[in-house]
Amino acid sequence: MDQIIIQDMSIYAKHGVYMEENILGQQFLVSVYMDVDLSKAGQTDNLEHTIDYGKVCHFVTKYMQEHTFKLIESAAEHLAEELLMQYRQVKKIRIKVKKPWAPIGLPIKNVCVSVDRIRHTVYLSLGSNLGDRRAYVQKGVEELNALSSCRLCEVSDFIETEPYGSVEQDNFINCVLRLETVLNPQQLLEKLHEIEDRSGRTREIHWGPRTLDLDILFYDHEVVNTPQLTIPHIDMQNRYFVLEPLRKIAPWYRHPLFHQTVQQMYEKLMEEHK
Ligand code: ADP
Ligand code: MG
Repeated sequence: MDQIIIQDMSIYAKHGVYMEENILGQQFLVSVYMDVDLSKAGQTDNLEHTIDYGKVCHFVTKYMQEHTFKLIESAAEHLAEELLMQYRQVKKIRIKVKKPWAPIGLPIKNVCVSVDRIRHTVYLSLGSNLGDRRAYVQKGVEELNALSSCRLCEVSDFIETEPYGSVEQDNFINCVLRLETVLNPQQLLEKLHEIEDRSGRTREIHWGPRTLDLDILFYDHEVVNTPQLTIPHIDMQNRYFVLEPLRKIAPWYRHPLFHQTVQQMYEKLMEEHK
């Protein structure tokens, strides 16, 4: 993959575990490695088709100076997240933060942390069948949009569907959406639970009424099987309220285990329920 590399930006800032470090400050060296397709810029010789590395340098310097972290791990993590979310063309990023004057009391050249972060594409399903259902789903979309670690790309229309499973309850309002995130699947699930909890959701009955349900349908083309998570979502192929909106925004997306596209899964489900 093509890369833009900015090496050892020298930035005077105030990160560190010790109070003196936060008051006096010291020099940090920050490097940024961005995986970007540069072919179009190479062919057109047009700045619009690449990333203005001058702007990146100014952003990194300002960010390092305006924040105070105890750990350079944290500084690197936040910079990676900010840059990935700001520059859509960047598929992968590596941030290195070096601390040449780390207060160790021994002659070292520097200490360095290096973090690699990737932009992931995720499809989520949202549903509500309690109270002001549309408002809960809309609020869910807005809360996802507000997360600094996520970028909302596309939201389907809302649809109203009959409840699924055996519990007697009101109709659902559902939608699906695509977002990009730097979070791993477990971290994303935790964020989703926080949003569900803020909507006042309680978890008494499985498949029972809920103010807001947020499920992960796809996470890139990864397969995840842990006690907390099954990705792709274990039952999506049987859910009209998932496949109907999903085929509108991602008909060509291929299920990594069934090897069928969303459109094909939708057609199969419709065939089964004729
Ligand atoms: P459902 O969505 O099936 O109606 P819940 O919303 O009550 O059920 O979810 C129960 C648990 O399912 C969650 O706490 C989570 O740990 C687990 N889970 C497993 N796979 C997923 C997934 N792909 N997306 C969201 N939650 C999942
Ligand atoms: Mg759920």
